[in-house]
Amino acid sequence: MENKITAALLGNPNSGKTTLFNSLTGLTAHVGNWPGVTVDKKEGVYKKLDTPIHLIDLPGIYSLSPYTPEEIVSRNYILDEKPDVVINVIDATNLERNLYLTTQLLEINVPVVLALNMTDLIIKNGDKLDAKTLSKRLGVPVVEISALKSTGLDELMEAALKASKQTRQGYTVIEESDILHLIHDVQIAFKGKGVDNPLFHAIKLVELDKIEVEMHPDLVNMVEEFKKTFKDDTFQDDFEAIVADKRYSYISKNYSNVLIKEEKTNKVLSKSDKIDRVMTHKIWAIPLFIVIMFFVFHLTFAEDLFFLNRLFHVEFTNEVFINICTGMGYDGEPLAGLPSPGIFLQNWMGFLTGSVIDGFRSFMPEGTWYTSLVCDGLLTGLDAVLSFVPQVMILFFFIAVLEDSGYMSRVAFILDRVFRKLGLSGKAFIPMLTGFGCSVPAIMASRTIEDRKERNKIIRLMTCFSCGAKAPIWALIAGVGALAGFAGDTFVFTIYLGGILAAILYALLMRVISKDDYVSPFIMELPLYHRPQMKNVGAYVWEKFKHYLTKAATIIAASTIVIWFLSNFNWNLSLGLVDIEDSILASLGKGLAYLYYPLGWAQGDDGWKYSVAVITGLIAKEQVVDSMAVLGLNEETIMFTASQAYAFAFYNLFTIPCFAAVGAAFGEQNRKEFWITLLWWFLMSYAASGIIFGVGRLFEIALWAGIVLMAVVLALIVAATIYVIRRHKKYVLENE
Ligand code: GDP
Ligand code: MG
Repeated sequence: MENKITAALLGNPNSGKTTLFNSLTGLTAHVGNWPGVTVDKKEGVYKKLDTPIHLIDLPGIYSLSPYTPEEIVSRNYILDEKPDVVINVIDATNLERNLYLTTQLLEINVPVVLALNMTDLIIKNGDKLDAKTLSKRLGVPVVEISALKSTGLDELMEAALKASKQTRQGYTVIEESDILHLIHDVQIAFKGKGVDNPLFHAIKLVELDKIEVEMHPDLVNMVEEFKKTFKDDTFQDDFEAIVADKRYSYISKNYSNVLIKEEKTNKVLSKSDKIDRVMTHKIWAIPLFIVIMFFVFHLTFAEDLFFLNRLFHVEFTNEVFINICTGMGYDGEPLAGLPSPGIFLQNWMGFLTGSVIDGFRSFMPEGTWYTSLVCDGLLTGLDAVLSFVPQVMILFFFIAVLEDSGYMSRVAFILDRVFRKLGLSGKAFIPMLTGFGCSVPAIMASRTIEDRKERNKIIRLMTCFSCGAKAPIWALIAGVGALAGFAGDTFVFTIYLGGILAAILYALLMRVISKDDYVSPFIMELPLYHRPQMKNVGAYVWEKFKHYLTKAATIIAASTIVIWFLSNFNWNLSLGLVDIEDSILASLGKGLAYLYYPLGWAQGDDGWKYSVAVITGLIAKEQVVDSMAVLGLNEETIMFTASQAYAFAFYNLFTIPCFAAVGAAFGEQNRKEFWITLLWWFLMSYAASGIIFGVGRLFEIALWAGIVLMAVVLALIVAATIYVIRRHKKYVLENE
């Protein structure tokens, strides 16, 4: 008999839901998205009881009033999907704040079990918790657990199973008052309309919650009428605040003595506090963070680990050793320093995929279209995706460790003040920093930002941060002979700096244009430090891995086939072209050259080649240099003037990133947001490139043009920034 039950885990962020979920479900977890929104949906099964319990890890929320996508998802799930039981996970060390959500949950007609989590900390602190009283007063079973130490989990599931077999009538903790009378009247009206959960909906309508007002405009009048006659001393007619206040006062009246804290002398700081004294130090916090992040990036991306070569001129000549370090890459040259773990694994991944491709090539008949499709198309595309995997995984591993240890919450906290000035919150930092390595994990990391607008902003300005794959483009242009005398490293430096300045400018502009001063609030309590759990870290990395492969691989595979097709066929659809000049791609490139003409670099006989190169950059940014090489453009043959060089570089910096990154953005945004993002990337790069070329051409004096141009652009950006900040300050002052 199919008698499986469904239990939903509901609770505040950081209450330990995911930890509990992982402990209960082991490896059965399945991660997907809630339909329509990019909020993780995790499902799994608990199998230790006779009845399998299907578990859903709902997004962490503080309230059932829908403001964020997370709140809407969690609320709708409980109201519409009607789980058999809701397990309300509560951080027992923050009991009163956590119970706020509980008071709302109790209003819904659904069986509830309270999982009083983090009891290991309660015991460790020497505090005392009276779960029996809690259970008696709330009228629902309460089970003490520790998700981290896996204690009490079986009792919890037994209680959940038992509760799921009964029904529970919702009730409210709001005490006898005028508001309660209004709630009862509205509730009767809802009952008349045959609405499920009339009590819950009535209270939300009285709070004038947006969704409720839209759904039942006919009942809003009742509330508005009442408002005219009613005013609270403190909250006037803000019913939402009145109701919230009633909940809190109920909680503090009844539960402040459920948790008895051990008296602590001020002298004894907990270990966590001691660590925080250093980690969140006023002056040292940010430098410390930069050092930590530097090491993370260094271990992931460095070719010369710990600068052994640069500082101490360490070289290795042993052939076997070099082969081990470089994935069989010995080419007769000594090895300059040691590769970082990221590079090391990337080398071996390259060896692996290279061998597979070679293997296929040796098996398959030469010169046929299907050999070309499989080897030059599909496998090469797969290689491009896989080559990122080691670094992406290592980066996520470090991020997961820092996050699970509790450090990341502090970072967001430290940076919040700086970022707030840009209309961003501290959480934006990780995706941005990651963006210098690769936009794919960076865009995926934006998922941690709950506010949609902010998340979209981050995704859109991601291209400002020069990703690793774009570096070869800068290197090529920096070495162009026609720009002789122009310092290559200055060129590259201005590209990176220009990108960062553009990002700042963009963030400030968006803030002023939208007059939107809302920055996602920083209600985040700092969890205690603890040793990272490999189970959590592993689950996190594995989730990202699956996400990366499925999202990026499908898109890359498809696009590779398209590009392969276009560069190997002519319009008569006859294959076997040696000359790419006659391919469909070439004729498209010639068309594109018209589009890019105003940007300068697509002018002249070679214009179409740059256009094609830029377009193939959609597959992977390394492809730009590759395509240019195939089309005969190298340091000697590129005839760029300084302004063309800058225009070309900035176009490549700002424009639509590779398909893998586009795929990642597609995964994080809804359809409309995604199209705006694509359009934004294109327009921004087009405009920037056009302006740089246009201005540069006005005073094109080979060597000096670039320097003067950059000086002017920088001055303009600085001036605009100062102007915007001033105006913004004025705006804030006027509105205070
Ligand atoms: P979620 O946001 O509700 O999914 O919370 P998480 O499962 O991500 O947990 C937040 C933090 O609390 C993590 O650092 C966990 O390791 C930690 N944590 C979770 N459960 C417990 C517990 O029972 N005891 C202790 N000491 N820490 C816990
Ligand atoms: Mg979670």
